[in-house]
Amino acid sequence: MAENKIPYKIYLDEKEIPSQWYNVRADMKNKPAPLLNPATLKPMKSEELYPVFCEELVAQELNDTDAYIDIPEEIQNFYKMYRPSPLIRAYFLEKALDTPAKIYYKFEGNNTSGSHKLNSAIAQAYYAKKQGLKGVTTETGAGQWGTALSMACSYFGLDCKVFMVKVSYEQKPFRREVMRTYGASVTPSPSTTTEIGKKILEAHPGTTGSLGCAISEAVEAATTTEGYRYVLGSVLNQVLLHQSVIGLEAKAALDKYGVKPDIIIGCAGGGSNLGGLISPFMGEKLRGEADYRIVAVEPASCPSFTRGKFAYDFCDTGMVCPLAKMYTLGSNFIPSANHAGGLRYHGMSSTLSQLYHDGLMEATSVEQTSVFAAAEQFARVEGILPAPESSHAIRVAIDEALKCKETGEEKTILFGLTGTGYFDMVAYQKFNDGEMTDYIPTDEELQKSFDTLPKVD
Ligand SMILES: *Cc1c(COP(=O)(O)O)cnc(C)c1O
Repeated sequence: MAENKIPYKIYLDEKEIPSQWYNVRADMKNKPAPLLNPATLKPMKSEELYPVFCEELVAQELNDTDAYIDIPEEIQNFYKMYRPSPLIRAYFLEKALDTPAKIYYKFEGNNTSGSHKLNSAIAQAYYAKKQGLKGVTTETGAGQWGTALSMACSYFGLDCKVFMVKVSYEQKPFRREVMRTYGASVTPSPSTTTEIGKKILEAHPGTTGSLGCAISEAVEAATTTEGYRYVLGSVLNQVLLHQSVIGLEAKAALDKYGVKPDIIIGCAGGGSNLGGLISPFMGEKLRGEADYRIVAVEPASCPSFTRGKFAYDFCDTGMVCPLAKMYTLGSNFIPSANHAGGLRYHGMSSTLSQLYHDGLMEATSVEQTSVFAAAEQFARVEGILPAPESSHAIRVAIDEALKCKETGEEKTILFGLTGTGYFDMVAYQKFNDGEMTDYIPTDEELQKSFDTLPKVD
């Protein structure tokens, strides 16, 4: 049986690392809605974005037409440090579940940042350097993005100022120290170093912060400091574009063995890893060449897709960023202290939002105790200790495999294992001690936030 020949790990050759990113927007009939200027409510022009973002990244952000964009050689070389990432056949998990399903996962945790975020961090740092900037500012929630960006900035000799959501700053001192080891400065957000931070602190004394607040502070710091621009680790079209390396590699590895996934699953915070993983598969689907079931998994505590509104909204709490049309819980929504810090964003990539709206993908939400149960089940048989964010995808992959056990269907499941969970042991401890709770926002809470959505058209 050919099946037996599939190795535990499918590694591509270094030469097979993609030399171009794939831009799924080029194949979309309904393009994601444009970013709007918050003052005029007109689509943002490139020049209006230049004070905030690097020029080349603005071009990528607004590019809805080029299907392939060359990856500069310096970025390709950096990718060689930790890519190609392995595509792993979860034989042990299949056996433990006693399922006829075939499970594969693409593992992005094989670098010091511990997640896929380095794929975009290195690209954004490269373009900032190329533009002759001194440094960049950003926000980080759980800390993975800040860590990835610190690594990328130190590689190119750029200064890196990170605003870290206060609750994570306090809960994850080691994450903070990794960033400082790579030369970044880390400020807990909200802080008194920015005007918007001071305002937020006045309005919500004692707040432990949110990604939306930290974004506002980072944007302010970038636009008021000479030679700095702001960079973002998810949500934006450019980030999805960079993350397409995940999907391109995964597809190339599966193609080698003639394997076609039936179901593709990924966790969704701002949508970058999922968008990257599914891009080439979605491209085939959009061009009518193949069909796949694609499932986004989000936490029940921050359910942007499954309970959010498809509307224009602010990307940040301070309302300084452009408006994006996306599935959103409202920029005022502050999710409960779920342990999957990387999935606590109120909005969602506008590319994925459009695809979801058009019925090209599904979404589901899961509660965190069931996520950690899946994480432990996975760790015990597959060895890798997964990030809580990634474990959302594991949960649904396991559930799908168990359905196959009932029906006897031999479906092929592909999921994204975005990172490792070594900095999340407080969360694992809570789970192991039986102290983890599941908080699901009420309709009233969500409505309160929806009421503050900006009125556009
Ligand atoms: C940031 C992060 C996520 C979620 O972000 P997306 O942009 O939705 O991919 C998922 N997993 C890990 C490990 C992360 O660090």
